[in-house]
Amino acid sequence: MIKIPVLRSILLVFVMIFLYRLSFPEEFRKKQSQSEIAGSKEKKNMVVSIIPMPAKLEMKKGSFSLNRQTRILADTELVWEAGYLSDVLHPALGFKMLVEEVASNPSMENVVILRLDPSLSGLEGEGYVLKVEDARIEFEAFKPAGIFYACQSLRQLLPPEIFESSPVPGIEWKVPCLFIEDKPRYEWRGQLFDCCRHFFPKQTVKRAIDLLALHKMNRLHWHLTEDQGWRIEIKRYPKLTEVGAWRTEKNGERYGGFYTQQDIREIVEYAQVRHIMVVPEIEMPGHSSAALAAYPELGCTGGPYKVENSWGVFPDVYCAGNENTFQFIENLLDEVLELFPSPYIHIGGDECPKQRWKECPKCQARIKKENLAHEHELQSYFIKRIDRYLTQKGRRLIGWDEILEGGLAPNAVVQSWRGVKGGIEAARQGHDVIMSPTSHCYLDYSYPSITLERAYSYEPLLEEIPGDKAHHIKGLEGNIWTEHVPNRDRLDFQVYPRLTALSEVAWSPKEKRNLEDFNSRMKTHFRRFEILGVKYGFNELDKYMKNSTVIGHWKAEQMQKEGDVLDWNLTPHIKAPGKYNIIFLYTHGSAAVQIAWAAIFQDQKEIHRDTHSGWSGGNKRDIVYKLKLEKLKPEATYFLKAHLTPHGDTNSNGEIRISREKQ
Ligand SMILES: [Zn+2]
Repeated sequence: MIKIPVLRSILLVFVMIFLYRLSFPEEFRKKQSQSEIAGSKEKKNMVVSIIPMPAKLEMKKGSFSLNRQTRILADTELVWEAGYLSDVLHPALGFKMLVEEVASNPSMENVVILRLDPSLSGLEGEGYVLKVEDARIEFEAFKPAGIFYACQSLRQLLPPEIFESSPVPGIEWKVPCLFIEDKPRYEWRGQLFDCCRHFFPKQTVKRAIDLLALHKMNRLHWHLTEDQGWRIEIKRYPKLTEVGAWRTEKNGERYGGFYTQQDIREIVEYAQVRHIMVVPEIEMPGHSSAALAAYPELGCTGGPYKVENSWGVFPDVYCAGNENTFQFIENLLDEVLELFPSPYIHIGGDECPKQRWKECPKCQARIKKENLAHEHELQSYFIKRIDRYLTQKGRRLIGWDEILEGGLAPNAVVQSWRGVKGGIEAARQGHDVIMSPTSHCYLDYSYPSITLERAYSYEPLLEEIPGDKAHHIKGLEGNIWTEHVPNRDRLDFQVYPRLTALSEVAWSPKEKRNLEDFNSRMKTHFRRFEILGVKYGFNELDKYMKNSTVIGHWKAEQMQKEGDVLDWNLTPHIKAPGKYNIIFLYTHGSAAVQIAWAAIFQDQKEIHRDTHSGWSGGNKRDIVYKLKLEKLKPEATYFLKAHLTPHGDTNSNGEIRISREKQ
């Protein structure tokens, strides 16, 4: 029996909790997960997992049910956004919400109202208010981009099945009642997409744009020219794509492709309506082998040159002493400017070796004539000249942080990649800066090098940047270079979910960032990815490292420059038949190691071999070798053999681990 006073005090506690919730809804929420259930009696599917996390979110009681009768009412300026919302929800809903272009009537029920409000200028160009009530949903913003981002939030407020491409029966399309007021921290939230090292079809680029939109990102930095391929059609210089878009791979196969001007217009428009600016990157003066292969007269030596089929930095670059080089670049930029309305044009400017310029009479004559101190100033001359040209045409030049060397035009924007020093220096000098340091933002790096947590921990605003220069930090980009990204699946694997983490870094207020909460929202987000067919990556090594033990090492003194087969005793580690994972984990030294194959030997006889190319250094790739032992032979000796080649010098050290797959 519970006595009355006890009951009374229990009741009192409940009343106090209720009052506490009413008075401090925000604090209460923090104690729970932000993916809280709206109203404790609501169903499990009412969790809120919006990524990036909105600046302000208040849960309310109740929910809105979306059904066949739900209509979208939109201001005239928002008809595209309204149509987009209807279209994007249509496949999973199985019905299309009707869009009505009307001055909204707040007394209407079962409607989604999209409205611009001039009094919301505080939300700037991309902010929005999203109100979900039992009877209606309202989006309000100062500009259409804000309404578009409210659409993205609404998609994420619905059950993840809303991302299905065909009708999902038996789902209640409920949206929890809430209030969101949201705007981005940074105006530049981008992805660099290298379509040169590997070529990606138009559909893949559009898909990348859709995924950016889902994450409220707004820049596609499209890397279109490289040593290994020229990917943009230039009508005046047809050989750029006839010759420059194709390379002969080491196995003799022809590889390549390019985007026609029509393709580019289509992609730029596709992005534009999704409030994404496409910024083209046309590399100069380095990384220009493909252009030189097409027009060898623009190089210092006159060639012949080839479209490169290996990765790295190549000595042949545009001749900076030749007037024709500048004529050529200006002419092709004219076509680029036609195609891309972006106020910004990226011209690369990174990794330009100076040896050809040192030996070239024309380049040396230019240095003399322009009174330049050395080849670095010649590079600065080159960039400044192109900057003048772009400025004259009303555009702004962006370049990698190397463009700071030897002085820089005031209008230019610097993208910091070699760490953050370039970004700090550029901001101090008063240049606008885009941050994409290799330490956090290089999505082509392996997961052990840049984990999801590490990407999430990135903070673009550093203490070293003086307060009055902080506004120069415009935001960030996640970069996907595609040397080792041959197809869409690999692209997905490298980019997501790390770009998801960076989207929150770029959008959400710093104080709203919380790893634990992000991880809990990611559970729903992974489900969205699975439905969308995004083959996201994970820390693959974690899986193999679990329960692994060290079986031995490779040491600098064992390394042969041209590579060698090494062996390690496995006998103490082989206790049962099964599948074994062998992990080659670089630990220290200046050289990475390349692994060609690994094999298991039983009493000197090879049992099984895994042949694939692995790379283990600061960056690690495909370093797990899977070996099968069908039958255990008692008393036998087991050995592991592997072919290791150090990269650069021979100073490579690492450990080798083994784990056995669970049956
Ligand atoms: Zn030259």
